[in-house]
Amino acid sequence: MKILVLGAGVVGISTAYYLAREGHDVEVVERHPGAAMETSFGNAGGLCPSFAAPWAAPGMPVKVLKMALKADAPVRFSLWPEPARLRWTRQWLKQCNAAQFRVNKLRMQRVAHYSLACLRELMGETGVAFDFHAGGVLQLFQTKAECRYGDIAASALKEFGIAHSVLDGRGAMAVEPALRDAAINIEGALHLPADASGDSHVFCQTMTAWLANAGVRFRFGTEVRRLLREGGRVVGAETSAGILKADATVVALGNQAPALVAALGIRLPVYPLKGFSITMPVTDGEHAPNMSVMDEHNKVMVSRLGNRIRAAGMAELVGHDLSLKPRQKAVLVRAVRNMFPNGIDYEKATFWAGLRPMTPDGPPILGASGWDGLFLNSGHGSNGWTQACGTSRVVADIVCGRKPEIDLEGLTVDRFGN
Ligand SMILES: Cc1cc2nc3c(=O)[nH]c(=O)nc-3n(C[C@H](O)[C@H](O)[C@H](O)COP(=O)(O)OP(=O)(O)OC[C@H]3O[C@@H](n4cnc5c(N)ncnc54)[C@H](O)[C@@H]3O)c2cc1C
Repeated sequence: MKILVLGAGVVGISTAYYLAREGHDVEVVERHPGAAMETSFGNAGGLCPSFAAPWAAPGMPVKVLKMALKADAPVRFSLWPEPARLRWTRQWLKQCNAAQFRVNKLRMQRVAHYSLACLRELMGETGVAFDFHAGGVLQLFQTKAECRYGDIAASALKEFGIAHSVLDGRGAMAVEPALRDAAINIEGALHLPADASGDSHVFCQTMTAWLANAGVRFRFGTEVRRLLREGGRVVGAETSAGILKADATVVALGNQAPALVAALGIRLPVYPLKGFSITMPVTDGEHAPNMSVMDEHNKVMVSRLGNRIRAAGMAELVGHDLSLKPRQKAVLVRAVRNMFPNGIDYEKATFWAGLRPMTPDGPPILGASGWDGLFLNSGHGSNGWTQACGTSRVVADIVCGRKPEIDLEGLTVDRFGN
């Protein structure tokens, strides 16, 4: 089959891999001059299935409001009544209860654990290097209240059969020795040994070269304008480089997916949730963290990516705005410096903003679109790097007419009444 993959973020690149592996003729269309120039560029680097959970959680609306009122608020939302945001927020609010949280978390866990196994297999098959580190994740708690949250999380992990250990401050420092220099109180921690980290931008760049060598064609600098249809079938796309015909088309456009498929009457409730990251060189490997650390007090995730440290956080519902705010950079630097005062060159921190393509309930939207020849791989939210390989393998299986290896319950567009 001739297959078009629209978008060369981590989801599009992984989709191209699983389709090319089946021997299909694959072409990737991307508006930027290279792969992973948008959300997949500067994320926190966490490959964290144990951690994967929806943003729609019980008590979250109140928590978000409280956090938005704090000085140096890690959460912000625009009051401008944009219809898409209002619709998305209404749907999100409906999911913020214990019963839906459980359902959605289980759905995300199903994909995320499968995905890390797929990524490990891909690494074996391709040999690609992307600063992968299998050291696990440490969730760090600075207060007794945060530790109580950790206990609740631990009982959920036990129920889901996910390896973890509850630690006190000394235990946390034993797992991540660089925390011995910390200027914060470490009240407790949760260690998730199965999780990992890696650089999704490097992954995409390296995979692009690997795929091009394997015969996949890349049209960079090419804007997708609309989908082409003949009767009830999608037969390709009109792009800035002309008409591209295909037997199957996969939409992996991150935050831009809803706008493209809306013309076909498909409503994708995917809305951007803005976040920020900083990246700094390691100057002393002994004092910089080796594993991923999630600072639950400031909601900042820190990962070691080779000889760099990446830290990311914040959640802003402000549309497609990608502006950089120096104050947010200072907040991130302060949070990381308080944990790891030594071994990192904070003066050389580079700053980035990205938009998480969020569904209101949390899980991504995979597979059939309701139109023959058109498939979706969208809405990966704050877990797209973690979920990319698994979701792409599922979508490739569906495109090929094969039953995916995981159950698709709750992972398709039907759940939104399309
Ligand atoms: C601050 C932050 C921290 C994060 N941390 C983590 C983490 O630790 N772990 C994790 O798993 N996930 C994390 N994420 C989420 C993860 O980065 C995303 O879920 C993932 O990158 C989404 O990938 P994507 O390929 O769907 O989207 P993108 O990477 O945005 O790719 C979509 C591509 O489509 C292209 N495109 C769009 N419209 C068009 C068009 N009309 N024509 C041509 N091309 C087009 C874009 O240019 C882009 O390259 C984080 C996100 C943020 C913002």
